[in-house]
Amino acid sequence: MIIVLKPTATQEEIDELENEFLERGFQVDRSEGESHTLLGLIGDTKSVDSSPLRSKHYVERVVRVNQPFKKASRYFHPKDSKIKINDDTVVGEGTISLIAGPCSIESEDQIISIAEDVKKAGATMLRGGAFKPRTSPYSFQGMQTNGLELMLLAKEKTGLPIVTEIMDLSQLPMFEDVDVIQVGARNCQNFTLLKELGRTQKPILLKRGMSQNIKELLMSAEYIMAGGNNNVILCERGIRTFETLTRNTLDLSAIPVLKKHTHLPIIIDPSHATGLSELVEPMTLAAIAAGADGIMVEVHNNPEAALCDGEQAIKPEEFAQIVDKARKYAELSHKTI
Ligand code: PEP
Ligand code: MN
Repeated sequence: MIIVLKPTATQEEIDELENEFLERGFQVDRSEGESHTLLGLIGDTKSVDSSPLRSKHYVERVVRVNQPFKKASRYFHPKDSKIKINDDTVVGEGTISLIAGPCSIESEDQIISIAEDVKKAGATMLRGGAFKPRTSPYSFQGMQTNGLELMLLAKEKTGLPIVTEIMDLSQLPMFEDVDVIQVGARNCQNFTLLKELGRTQKPILLKRGMSQNIKELLMSAEYIMAGGNNNVILCERGIRTFETLTRNTLDLSAIPVLKKHTHLPIIIDPSHATGLSELVEPMTLAAIAAGADGIMVEVHNNPEAALCDGEQAIKPEEFAQIVDKARKYAELSHKTI
């Protein structure tokens, strides 16, 4: 249930109403808009009679929300959210984030060289996996703790904030200096993990599961937000369909659909969505045109020799060309890179 207060409502009136519901055991999510303040009630609101509320002189209207997601819902928070990564970097709010880097960290030379190249080309964050969720237990599993250390070294050398995937709760203490924790497609409904990440204030890049519908993705975001962490960035990375000529099917319509239902920023991963390096550019540009808040792409200095996902990796010089084109699309969308 959402209580929309009139622009004339005083601070005392808003506080009093908020306290009344807190005392009744509800969680209250307050959202201050330009003219209106909204109080979103979370809990079993069936017992709340809206008539006495409506008759308060400072209440404009009372809306019952039937959606199962609350904190992630645009009803509760009409303004787009911006997620602060560090003093210089935000995701959302009129910016296009460019997250680039290898699928996996493979060596110091590899990650430092790619980090420097993508930074020069205009990347706003560096990606790279240390703990890799591979389909086969016999495939390269990532450099693990050593990889994480190299990622932190790349952050130190380039100043780029880093995004890297957590696979298990036990790894959380190692992620203290990681700027954005990625929850991969395979873990998107690991509710124990999501709940625990909700107890931190770390920005979380939450990838859509390969067979997860949009509502379920928003419920996964809600798991993180319910614990008090509102720093959630959604990522569409392709869903599994009957198509076989691409690795997955990029659901571009998820962008406007998510924009309608949620205030959270949305990043598109054209690399995992298509599995093919030549599709990274057109899908990047399409994503920006469709309203995405950024992209995450796999870049490798030697794709043929990559230990993971080489066929979808682009080279640093290709990334630089994509960034140039992306700037034009961003401008058309009134966004900045
Ligand atoms: C990745 O980004 O490295 C990754 C494993 O992606 P996904 O979870 O989308 O498959
Ligand atoms: Mn990958």
